[in-house]
Amino acid sequence: MIYDVIIIGAGASGLFLGANLKGKKVAILEKNSSAGKKILASGGGRCNITNRFISAKNYLGEQKFIEQILKVLTPNQVLKFFSELKFSEQKQNQFFCDSGAKSVLSVLLKRQNADIFYNKEVLGAKKVDEIFEILTKDEKFRARNLVIASGGLSYKTLGASDIGYKIANNFGIETSTLAPALVGFSVQKDEFWFKELSGVRLNADVEINSHKFSGDLLFTHRGISGPAILNASLFWQKGRIYINFLPKFNKKSLINGKKQLSSVLPLPKRFVLEFLKNFGLKDRAFYEFNDNDRQIIKRLFAYEFAPAGTFGFERAEVTKGGVKSEFLDENLQAYNVKGLYFVGEVLDITGMLGGYNLHFAFASALKVARVLNL
Ligand SMILES: Cc1cc2nc3c(=O)[nH]c(=O)nc-3n(C[C@H](O)[C@H](O)[C@H](O)COP(=O)(O)OP(=O)(O)OC[C@H]3O[C@@H](n4cnc5c(N)ncnc54)[C@H](O)[C@@H]3O)c2cc1C
Repeated sequence: MIYDVIIIGAGASGLFLGANLKGKKVAILEKNSSAGKKILASGGGRCNITNRFISAKNYLGEQKFIEQILKVLTPNQVLKFFSELKFSEQKQNQFFCDSGAKSVLSVLLKRQNADIFYNKEVLGAKKVDEIFEILTKDEKFRARNLVIASGGLSYKTLGASDIGYKIANNFGIETSTLAPALVGFSVQKDEFWFKELSGVRLNADVEINSHKFSGDLLFTHRGISGPAILNASLFWQKGRIYINFLPKFNKKSLINGKKQLSSVLPLPKRFVLEFLKNFGLKDRAFYEFNDNDRQIIKRLFAYEFAPAGTFGFERAEVTKGGVKSEFLDENLQAYNVKGLYFVGEVLDITGMLGGYNLHFAFASALKVARVLNL
């Protein structure tokens, strides 16, 4: 049997593609025993499905290429696709599903025009006489078109594999360096005091290579995480980052304050005490400190440090890098292999936190659906 289209991966992009292909014989090959494991884990189980402000600027990657993909799908069209579900808008831009990620996955499965084959880990693919042969451990599938929707390397426990990059490379398509992104930072010895604050959350500004992010910051037993840090991780390779722990606090209020720092500073008390302890200082009013100590305290406005590394692929929401867009035409088809397409996270395109990655998975899938439906 020769399929019109075979899709590798029943994740966000593969399922959206399967739902949007019409009148074709389509199969999805999925290595897990069920579909969309990452969808279920997304947005803390509530699935941040899209963002009111979708724009290429919110993505790393070739901007013009991204723009023309995003054009095919607006945030409203995403919500319309899932019209039987209710979404709440948070922070005036992020849409989360009220009934949870499970119902998002249910809609995707309900709308399928593809046969899904589970426990079919794809091991490789080749093209023989215009037909793709896709190899799994126990079966060979054949198709006229092959779409790689196998995602990135992050969260292996949810099904991640490097098959998409391998297939690309075997067909002579290059991939850029892969790195964990939307991920927390582990810390060096000087910042081990962060670890003592595991569970503490506060609002901060994070600056990295001239990119600035405001938002929550979360201390963990391994270092530092939270939305502001996750976004910053997109731009980090090595080197220093800056945190303003007091983004909305006027320095004058610090200088004029007559009370102990832990009472004056709009920060969790546990944080202030740990910070002071780390630098051998007592909790007292700012005017009571000597010049040297005051300089240390002022570091709260621009705390500079070099992370030891990231929490790695196992904790990264996405993979930065991937199949290079310059090897693909505007329909995400490989220039050098007719009928071979790449969608979703396997591409060298990475979105910020806030629904951008799922939106891109859907938009890239729809782009390919349109051309395959012709
Ligand atoms: C914890 C977590 C929370 C997240 N929250 C959000 C969020 O709220 N909003 C947002 O926009 N993004 C979020 N993301 C990112 C988002 O989930 C991904 O960017 C998106 O799922 C990528 O879609 P995809 O289809 O490219 O890949 P995936 O959804 O990862 O799907 C790939 C599929 O391919 C299968 N596969 C892999 N290798 C093989 C193989 N060899 N053979 C057969 N099948 C294979 C996998 O099992 C998987 O089912 C989150 C990610 C994580 C890890």
